[in-house]
Amino acid sequence: MTFTLDKSAKIQNAVYEDYDLNDIDEYDLIIIGGGAGGFSAATKASELGLKAVLINGGLPLGGTCVNVGCVPSKVLIEISNEYYYGNHSNYWSLKGKASSKLELRDVIAEKKELVDGLRQSNYVDVVNNLNGVKVLEGYAKFVSPNEVQVGERRLKGEKFIIATGARPKIIPFKGLEEGVM
Ligand SMILES: Cc1cc2nc3c(=O)[nH]c(=O)nc-3n(C[C@H](O)[C@H](O)[C@H](O)COP(=O)(O)OP(=O)(O)OC[C@H]3O[C@@H](n4cnc5c(N)ncnc54)[C@H](O)[C@@H]3O)c2cc1C
Repeated sequence: MTFTLDKSAKIQNAVYEDYDLNDIDEYDLIIIGGGAGGFSAATKASELGLKAVLINGGLPLGGTCVNVGCVPSKVLIEISNEYYYGNHSNYWSLKGKASSKLELRDVIAEKKELVDGLRQSNYVDVVNNLNGVKVLEGYAKFVSPNEVQVGERRLKGEKFIIATGARPKIIPFKGLEEGVM
């Protein structure tokens, strides 16, 4: 039986667009979340020769670090530093020699370029070359102790790793919302 892709659950790896449902419905390991945690699990699963699937939804593949965390924040900080010290050097021979014009639009475009490139080389290309690991795009939810649903699809797993990241919790602290201490 050939599986037809639907919008809510699409296989990202082109190699797996046509396959037998019976062949892929059951896995040794189902990894939920395609960030740094999910990726290291996927790499290990491949090394161990497991039949695994990595399910990622929400943020693009790579999760927080490459898309909205470590990478973009460091790019923006580094650009800001270079701009600042270019104009505020401790050395009088450099002071005031840098351009004073900064185009925020260019900064954001460069940040996006770097993020897109790193996501491709460090995540998409890597996972597409992991033997035995498939990638499914969509949100996974448990429908039984050993099954998850992603869009219209159900996947059965022997073991699961939940690597869905975290969200900050704003503690109820008087004055915090107003920024007043
Ligand atoms: C601004 C910022 C800067 C940071 N800088 C650094 C740094 O310099 N150095 C450092 O070490 N760390 C840094 N971190 C922390 C780092 O980004 C996180 O520790 C790391 O990304 C966590 O990885 P993770 O795999 O646990 O989760 P995530 O990377 O968040 O991945 C979880 C993935 O699972 C997906 N998901 C969630 N629910 C489901 C579901 N039900 N089904 C399918 N998919 C789902 C999410 O959309 C996401 O793609 C920074 C974080 C932020 C926010």
